[in-house]
Amino acid sequence: MEAVLEARGTGKRFPGVVALSGVDLALRPGEVHALVGENGAGKSTLIKVLTGVYQPDDGTLLLGGEPVRFGRPLDAQAAGISTIYQEVNLVPLLSVARNLFLGREPRTRLGLIDTRAMDARAAELLGSLGVHADVRRPLRTLGLGTQQMVAVARAVAAEARVVVMDEPTSSLEPREVATLFDVVGRLRSQGIAVLYVSHRLDELYRICDRVTVLRDGRVVHTGPLAELPRLRLVAAMLGRDLDEVRREGSTRFDGASSVASGAPVLEATGLARRHVLDGVSLTVRPGEIVGLGGLLGAGRSETARAIAGAMAVDAGTVTVAGRPVRTGSVPAAMAAGVVMLPEDRKADGIVPGLSVRENIALAALPTLSRAGIVSRARQDAIVDRFVTRLRIKASGPDQKVGELSGGNQQKVLLARLLARNPKLLLLDEPTRGIDIGAKAEVQGLIDELAAEGLGVVLISSEFEEVVEGSDSVVVLRDGRVVATLHGAEVTEDALISALAADGD
Ligand code: ADP
Ligand code: MG
Repeated sequence: MEAVLEARGTGKRFPGVVALSGVDLALRPGEVHALVGENGAGKSTLIKVLTGVYQPDDGTLLLGGEPVRFGRPLDAQAAGISTIYQEVNLVPLLSVARNLFLGREPRTRLGLIDTRAMDARAAELLGSLGVHADVRRPLRTLGLGTQQMVAVARAVAAEARVVVMDEPTSSLEPREVATLFDVVGRLRSQGIAVLYVSHRLDELYRICDRVTVLRDGRVVHTGPLAELPRLRLVAAMLGRDLDEVRREGSTRFDGASSVASGAPVLEATGLARRHVLDGVSLTVRPGEIVGLGGLLGAGRSETARAIAGAMAVDAGTVTVAGRPVRTGSVPAAMAAGVVMLPEDRKADGIVPGLSVRENIALAALPTLSRAGIVSRARQDAIVDRFVTRLRIKASGPDQKVGELSGGNQQKVLLARLLARNPKLLLLDEPTRGIDIGAKAEVQGLIDELAAEGLGVVLISSEFEEVVEGSDSVVVLRDGRVVATLHGAEVTEDALISALAADGD
């Protein structure tokens, strides 16, 4: 069948990054096509090329078999390509009907908007998609799900031939998801091609016909989804060869990790937050490294943030060394001995303009300044200890952190956390973006810290790092714990199987 929209040999580069390389994607009329890949795989870039937001550096776009060039998003829209973003891009204060026909409102003979005709057509259009809402109400008074449905209806009204949906269900209630799937089904039966980006495997297998898997800007698989077992899909996304994974798994545990024991340093139970976490429980013993496994959006960072008090929860308890800790408060978690290395060290961590000394001492302030004055000598002693201990390479403690390499910046952040003498260390992507040498050093350091009795929670999007670095792995999917692996069970094979297991 001829593709309605096709990208051939698409390449897109950003300074220092090849976001897409030789990507082929063909969208056929009446198919729901899943686009999957881990973070940074190139999904958003590909969508932006298809919808005229970016110009590709290489390759051609074909619309109904004819080469086209979308100089800007409006060109793509005019060609019948609609995008429904996660954040609904409509006008909240205008009525539902106005939003549906924005820019194409039916007019009276005098050139005024024909409200009555517009409302009637709007009601009919929504009704045809199985959505029932008062079209005269301002859009913002509707639930997010219905708003998204209005966005879909708008695409249909604009006579879309292709509808692109980027993570459309991430903020929807289950009932709204059901309505959306219904609508997707109707689009398909009207011969519209739907490109569907999601990390939720259960959803993909329910509604998609074909799948394209991107990894590092390249297509690594394309074909009918029903013929691709979940395990293979996940392995393709992660770039793991299943057989190789199996072989590695059997030899991994010769360097037996230290056995953690004693009363738990952390007991988290039933952590819940709407749309994000759904009853996550986790236990960490002194000296134990517990990895969090999961794909993007599974709730790993959110679990860490909930434990660290950086994200409020609707339900659940956090107990540190036997004492209950108030949730939703970073100071309360810190006072209990919980510290977190955030995922984005530039945004939440390091202060590049301050020196190594100042960055490390920043955290130590509360303990050092009991009398209200920070003793410079004590500060220096602590700073020296950590600079040596973590082998931070700087010209001296007064060098600005912003001038250090990524790996050394990360060590400064770690030093800052350790200066608080914590009981539990939460590490979110501790080695992302640092060079290989520094990475091995940080990994070694985490092991040393655990061996000294610190409890560690480790998040990494690199499976090898989680498997090799953890004593146990708690596997999350859609904000829920779906498996827990201990000791010798911690293998890439087991982890991938747990991720791919049928969730229904
Ligand atoms: P995905 O949506 O699959 O997570 P993206 O398309 O957002 O992936 O990113 C692909 C790669 O291109 C990543 O390495 C990302 O950092 C890079 N990238 C994306 N957009 C830009 C941009 N505007 N400038 C520089 N690099 C970018
Ligand atoms: Mg993206």
